[in-house]
Amino acid sequence: MKKSVAIVTGASQGIGRATAIRLAKDFSGVVLAARDGRALEETAGEVKANGADPLKAALDLRSKESAETLVKQTLDRFGRIDALVNIAGAVPQIDLFEMTDAQWQDGLELKFHGARRLTILAWDALKASQGSVVLMSGSAALDPKPGFAAVAAINAAIIAMAKAFAEQGIKDGVQVNSVVPGPVMTHRRQTFMEKWAPAHGMTVEEATKKFPAEVGISRVTILQSGPQLMSQEDPDVAEEMQRILRGEGIQILLAAETLNVQGRSGEGVSLTVRASSREQTIEGSDLLIAAGRIPNTAGIGLEEAGVKLDGHGYIRVNERLETTTPGVWALGECAGSPQFTHASADDFRIIRDNLAGGERSTRDRLVPYCLFSDPSLAHVGLSEREAQRLGVGVRVAKLPMSAVLRTEATEETQGFMKALVGASDERILGFTMIGSEAGEVMAAVQTAMLAELPYGRLRDAVLAHPTMAEGLCALFSNVAPGPAQ
Ligand SMILES: Cc1cc2nc3c(=O)[nH]c(=O)nc-3n(C[C@H](O)[C@H](O)[C@H](O)COP(=O)(O)OP(=O)(O)OC[C@H]3O[C@@H](n4cnc5c(N)ncnc54)[C@H](O)[C@@H]3O)c2cc1C
Repeated sequence: MKKSVAIVTGASQGIGRATAIRLAKDFSGVVLAARDGRALEETAGEVKANGADPLKAALDLRSKESAETLVKQTLDRFGRIDALVNIAGAVPQIDLFEMTDAQWQDGLELKFHGARRLTILAWDALKASQGSVVLMSGSAALDPKPGFAAVAAINAAIIAMAKAFAEQGIKDGVQVNSVVPGPVMTHRRQTFMEKWAPAHGMTVEEATKKFPAEVGISRVTILQSGPQLMSQEDPDVAEEMQRILRGEGIQILLAAETLNVQGRSGEGVSLTVRASSREQTIEGSDLLIAAGRIPNTAGIGLEEAGVKLDGHGYIRVNERLETTTPGVWALGECAGSPQFTHASADDFRIIRDNLAGGERSTRDRLVPYCLFSDPSLAHVGLSEREAQRLGVGVRVAKLPMSAVLRTEATEETQGFMKALVGASDERILGFTMIGSEAGEVMAAVQTAMLAELPYGRLRDAVLAHPTMAEGLCALFSNVAPGPAQ
């Protein structure tokens, strides 16, 4: 292999990591730069497995000193630089109108200033090796939309800067952009494509070529008429989910009024929306309306049987699920039960046992739920909002998922756990989690709630390491002491 050296910034994760691993096939040395040194370990292992000599550089490239150190370390170790691939720097994907000056500055700092500084510092070495500079920009610059406006503006600046460097390069003999890594497969995209491709009758390779245009999920806008996403949830839960979705590049417009829809879903749609007192047009290929479900109870002869409905059209039932007509029972969504499969299934068990002479009821049953987002959201029992409405005194404990040790291994650090414990007793009254495996962790808490275990039993339990459930010990350690303690 030709002796050649590439520097990749932002190499600890995502596209930077994938690029570094890919370049390891063509370069004898790959310098991996990122802020988080521990996260570079894995990339370094893969670079080595692909035949290149890795050099890990844990640096914060926002400072000039760090950029100088990176160039020096590279030259000390390898004596040359043949390619500089600059990927580092996430620009917050926040609506231009909502973005603070600090967020804007943060986006510019590493992605733009950092790229310029490093290119200039490495210039002489690149010139000597007739090397290449790749300043990575996202495609948002080509098609700026409000949610990506900041990203787009900074990326457009990077493109302009790369062109200006290219001008210099051509004069001075640096072939700017001669090493283009090409499409790279990140972990997230690989996992997604492995599920998506066979479901659409394609191999991953075929689907990758068509992604994202054929998959059609390249840009998502959520329009919510209310003031927060997931209106039933506590504000901190909704805000965290919103933050995670925005981090994925999803644009969220709250208090959004849809004024007009034109086109046909699947072919092309154009929506006129008023949000934050501004009217704007949102264009897309598909439109999904998820505005809730209504009971399908009209016109099926219920009134002839004397079965009465409530004001919302649900069949009126008592706690035993008996309707207003003796001998007629109703279960599931049409009877106004929580809209989950497990609630309907439990309704069935109640009716089955009552038909056999039992005395089962829907009263006080704990109905959990899980939203299978990524990461998932799970909830059981009281929320803070419900506790307040019902006048139930609670102690609230929270724990960020990043404090759960397993997340260090799985890199799934987003979200938090939240527990509600009685203000003056030891009962666990509610649990919410946003995080990987939230539904499974919730089942453990639900079991404790059903057994009416005092929260201290979970706090002091010896739970296996490293599991997500292990975080429950730390979570319940954060409960403030009660009056008796
Ligand atoms: C996209 C989607 C995803 C979901 N994901 C989840 C999930 O992950 N977890 C979860 O717990 N829940 C989930 N749910 C909710 C769950 O599917 C429902 O809560 C559950 O199916 C309700 O059960 P049910 O028996 O009350 O009603 P249904 O399952 O809707 O059954 C009602 C049946 O009655 C039939 N019917 C309606 N009207 C008539 C009529 N006039 N004559 C004869 N038959 C009629 C319908 O065709 C249907 O077969 C999801 C729902 C949707 C739409």
